[in-house]
Amino acid sequence: MIEALLEHNKAWAAERVRNDPDYFKRLSGLQAPQYLWIGCSDSRVPANVITGLEPGEVFVHRNVANLLHPGDLNGLSVLQFAVEVLKVSYIIVCGHYGCGGVAAAVDGQRHGLIDHWLRPIQDVYERFEPDLAALPDAQARLARLCELNVEQTVGRVAQTPVVQDAWRSGRSLAIHGWVYGLDDGVIRDLGCTVSGADDVRRPGGPAPA
Ligand SMILES: [Zn+2]
Repeated sequence: MIEALLEHNKAWAAERVRNDPDYFKRLSGLQAPQYLWIGCSDSRVPANVITGLEPGEVFVHRNVANLLHPGDLNGLSVLQFAVEVLKVSYIIVCGHYGCGGVAAAVDGQRHGLIDHWLRPIQDVYERFEPDLAALPDAQARLARLCELNVEQTVGRVAQTPVVQDAWRSGRSLAIHGWVYGLDDGVIRDLGCTVSGADDVRRPGGPAPA
């Protein structure tokens, strides 16, 4: 099975060069993506595929349930490189409905180390418990929690010194919150875009005036 991947890769590379002889020469010399993608590791939500972006067009960071912890060296290093070196203009936090990570955070079971990682989702759940409890069923509650989790990550990205410094220096940098539907392949914009220090708000709160 694994050999098939290498065979496919050979055919793909040959096809690229056939269509554009300088394709790899150009890409290997420079990457200048406009976008940083912070998404879930779920195999069904591949950033490039669902947005139609080519290699070189999006810098990608994925983890379980699209989170950013204040002490996450990996995520923060990716963020700093994307903002300060690649100078991306857009950061996209993209979660997805039916996220197993989000569900695991609030199912009342013990899962091991991942429980530490998912802790911020439990915090969001507790903060919005009355609103979530008012929804008709567990599926609707999970869907709303997936959205709230994206909004929280947007807020966390916005509060990092890297992003705050970019705004302070006058850089144009917007953070968008999206949710992808596994059952229809469509991305929803949650309308929680943050484009400057004045836009930062708590997840689920009122939109800025
Ligand atoms: Zn997920």
